[in-house]
Amino acid sequence: MNLILLGAPGAGKGTQAKMLKEKYGFVHISTGDILREAVAKGTELGKKAKEYMDKGLLVPDEIVIGIVKERLKEPDCNKGIILDGFPRTLRQAEELDKILKEMNMKIDAVINIFVSEEEVIKRISYRRSCRNCGTVYNIIYNPPKKNLICDKCGGELYQRDDDREETVKERYKVYVERTEPLIEYYRKKNVLFNVDGTKSIDEIFEEITKIVKIKNKI
Ligand code: AMP
Repeated sequence: MNLILLGAPGAGKGTQAKMLKEKYGFVHISTGDILREAVAKGTELGKKAKEYMDKGLLVPDEIVIGIVKERLKEPDCNKGIILDGFPRTLRQAEELDKILKEMNMKIDAVINIFVSEEEVIKRISYRRSCRNCGTVYNIIYNPPKKNLICDKCGGELYQRDDDREETVKERYKVYVERTEPLIEYYRKKNVLFNVDGTKSIDEIFEEITKIVKIKNKI
């Protein structure tokens, strides 16, 4: 079972991907997480990516496509994958189709989690992520039990550099221009499912698990 989670920044893709990974053992591939790790390590890739990420822009297609291509070669991907934050442009979607075809794999469902721009800005400015395990909280809607401490691992919660309001507005604009056309791309391929991202985390998860069950016959 191979899934793509589509949606604006802050739609809840990462949260749902982590829950799906826990329930079904799928491999969670988040290009944002991979890039942030490279930035934290100060690798060449990280230095290059940071220039774009800090401005709320997309990292060039060749770089992200290369990252995903390498990651998909790892043997654990046969357990099923959840792509979170990739593809984000038509070129990435077309390249992904080619890569998967070569590997005899296919996308079974694309789940589009939709939320409005106002909701995105409200959510992201209150978002805090764990430095250690990546769990995402919202200090108003989904706060940790202890202030700025991760419930799961005790790690420190921080605000991503690109989660500040001005950058979020740019990221949303980029989403509308570059990523939203993918909804139509996957609708035409008959693999698109729309999920209302303003519902609660558990309600959204329930809807997604229903889709997984239908597609996976489990
Ligand atoms: P995310 O954590 O998915 O919101 O990604 C954070 C940032 O990483 C984005 O704003 C982009 O700068 C970059 N990024 C992540 N995934 C991609 C992608 N598929 N294509 C281009 N840039 C990406």
